[in-house]
Amino acid sequence: MRKIIITLDGFSSCGKSTLARQLANELNYVFIDSGAMYRAITLYFLRHRIDWNKTEEVVAALKQIVLDFQYNANSGKSDMYLNHEDVEVPIREMPVSDNVSAVSAVKEVREFAVAQQQLMGDKKGIVMDGRDIGTTVFPAAELKIFVMADPAIRVERRYKEMFEKNPNIRMEEVKNNLESRDYIDSHREVSPLRKAEDAIELDNSNLTREEQLEIVLKWAKKIID
Ligand code: C5P
Repeated sequence: MRKIIITLDGFSSCGKSTLARQLANELNYVFIDSGAMYRAITLYFLRHRIDWNKTEEVVAALKQIVLDFQYNANSGKSDMYLNHEDVEVPIREMPVSDNVSAVSAVKEVREFAVAQQQLMGDKKGIVMDGRDIGTTVFPAAELKIFVMADPAIRVERRYKEMFEKNPNIRMEEVKNNLESRDYIDSHREVSPLRKAEDAIELDNSNLTREEQLEIVLKWAKKIID
């Protein structure tokens, strides 16, 4: 069977990672959550008080960062490792969420992450989700999907997900975070979030996880088989 590259881009919390993971499982492909890499870099910057507006500080800090994914048999998912530490929990918390879009807008940060992402795809057989995967990371990908969902639905989904980990979280906080990330991600100078011209749109506002997987699997199999 032919191996291809599948990209999923879109605004925050429209279910890209869940869909990308399911798709990779079905196809026996590698799944990469590129957002986790930007989140891990942000965690490092926060812990080490790196001022990301200062290029020299950023360049020096990036030299100290090793990122990798390791499979977690308990959850059945891959966890993000920062300098050999499992950071899957702290990278999903609010301090990182509040700063990740500002950090991701820094040119040197993007160059660092994109170079690693491109290496991960050199053997194909990969599903990667993010904001610039179909436009910048893999512009020649065989299947590009732009995932969309109604903003109110996205807020509700993210709220439910965060509430399970932190019952003190407020809906307003989640809404503000999503709006602010969406704005920064789509207005930054380097690789802003936008739909690649050859991407297929998938609006999953009214689709179940199973339904959206079925649709996307059909698109993928048409190309692969
Ligand atoms: O996918 P997730 O919402 O976890 O991504 C967190 C943040 O990382 C995004 O809001 C965006 O600022 C940044 N990001 C990016 N490019 C990607 C993936 C994520 O700039 N390819």
